[in-house]
This record gives sequence, structure tokens and C-alpha cells, in this order.
Amino acid sequence: ARVAAATAVTVPDVRFEDIGGQSGAKKELQEAIEFIRNREQIARMGIRPLKGILLTGPPGTGKTLLAKAAAHHTDSVFLAASGSEFVEMYAGVGAQRVRDLFRRARETARKERKGSAIIFIDEIEVLGARRGSHSSHMEYDQTLNQLLTEMDGIAVDEEVQVLVMGATNRVDMMDPALLRPGRFDRTVSVDLPDKEARLAILQLHTRQKPLGADVDLEAIARQTFGFSGAHLESLANEAAILALREGLDEVRQRHFVEAVDKVMLGEKIDRKPTQ
Ligand code: ATP
Repeated sequence: ARVAAATAVTVPDVRFEDIGGQSGAKKELQEAIEFIRNREQIARMGIRPLKGILLTGPPGTGKTLLAKAAAHHTDSVFLAASGSEFVEMYAGVGAQRVRDLFRRARETARKERKGSAIIFIDEIEVLGARRGSHSSHMEYDQTLNQLLTEMDGIAVDEEVQVLVMGATNRVDMMDPALLRPGRFDRTVSVDLPDKEARLAILQLHTRQKPLGADVDLEAIARQTFGFSGAHLESLANEAAILALREGLDEVRQRHFVEAVDKVMLGEKIDRKPTQ
């Protein structure tokens, strides 16, 4: 069987400070992963380790960034996969890929001499959908069962502590077995940014860009209700491209204004009255 195309990397270079807004999610997540840094204490107290954290929320809001920052914060190796990578026509292949992913997480951590590994599975609802809900349900069920088996097998006294982080915007589709204690027993909601958070994200993504004196990011933050972090990143990038096209060496306010429309046209953004 082919190995899941998970991208194995060492400890990612994303910090919580690189993520704009999401202060609630960051705080919850930081508290939840503290156990990785205090493993001995946790083991001594006989506390069951946290095995899974579910990040829920719309696309482009920073779920992947948060998972990477969690790995950075705990000095863990980071492996990312998508739920759809486990979906195969042939019986047993999906389950084998799940097994391989966990084996690789432990191997990579050992090789890198790290005590912990974070496995990030985006679109986890594809792999973790309610059993019996798919047409070729036997195969899906096997894959999901393997994930449950792997999570049940995570122990606190292992050489490598494994933590699974799943991301989804369809928590309603997930099999209830995944949400039971000892599996994904912590849910962190990652919502669209409010005005303050949008400003923070715009500031982060314009840090390296030369801005004209007339640039008013706060005004842009006000006009971008419904934008995700990914939209704002794209907006900042578009603004700089527009400035470059005019042969300017700085980005001006009108470029940002034009970029708002551009991003909005490109994406269907659900805009409600300005917040
Ligand atoms: P998906 O569910 O579509 O995978 P996601 O929630 O995992 O989305 P990310 O992959 O973390 O979103 O974000 C995509 C990009 O958008 C990031 O690489 C970053 O450039 C930008 N971004 C998103 N949210 C934020 C944020 N809160 N602060 C700064 N940048 C952000």
C-alpha cells in the first residue's frame, strides 16, 4: 500500500504571535497542549493524556496555523494530512494509511530527537463521517475504525507523545465515536475574525510591505466584514501587486480599496451589515 502523502516536517516555524486575532482559540489551545510540556507531572498524577483536539470553523481562519503554532510551542514534530487522502476504493488501503501516518509520526519524532508529535488532519469529517453514511461504507468504516484504534493506543508513558489535531467545518457530520472522551475530547472553535482581529491580520500581512502615508488599515478592516484570514492575506498581496503594476514603490490606500473588491469578486463572501 502507498503511504499517505502526509507532509512530514520538523518543528514548524509558526508562532502564536504570527496569528492575528483568535485570542480565545489561542488561549484554549495553549492550555490544552500544556500537558505535553509537563508530561512527567501528568503521568505522576495518573491523568489521562489529551489525545485529540478538534478545531472547528470556516475555511481560511487559521486552523492550520494554530496547529503548527501548537507544534512549535511544544517543540513537536508536525505531520499534516487531509481526510480525503484516506479515501480509497480498495479495501484496507485507507486503514493502512492511517496506521502508516501514526507510525511515521513516532519515527520522525525519534529521528529528530523530539518527545512529541502532532498529527494534523484537515477535513477530518471526510475520514471521520458517521459510520454507515457513505455508499461504499465498509471501506470508510475500516478507515475510521483504524483511526479510533490508533487514538485509543496513545499512551502517556510512550517515548513519543502523540497528539492528533483535526480540523473541520462540518462537525455535525462526524461519527459520535470520534467525539467520545479519550478521542477528540476538546473542541476549539475558530471563527471568522471581527474588526479588531481583521486589523491585526492586516497588520501582520503588511509587515514586510512598504506602505504609503495615506494607508488606513483600520478603514480596510471596517470594510471587510465576512473576510477570513486567508482572504485578508490575499487582499494585502493583491494591493501590493496593483501598486507594482503602476510602477510605484509603495502601496497606497486606493490599492487596498481596489483589492477589497477584487477579493470579494473572486470569492463569494457573505457580507452582512458592517460590524
Ligand atoms: P482550511 O480549513 O481551508 O484549511 P485553515 O483554517 O486551516 O483553512 P489556514 O490554512 O491556517 O486556514 O490559513 C490560510 C492562510 O490564511 C494562512 O497561511 C495565512 O496566510 C492566512 N491566515 C488565516 N488566518 C489567519 C490569521 N488568524 N492570522 C494571520 N493569517 C491568517
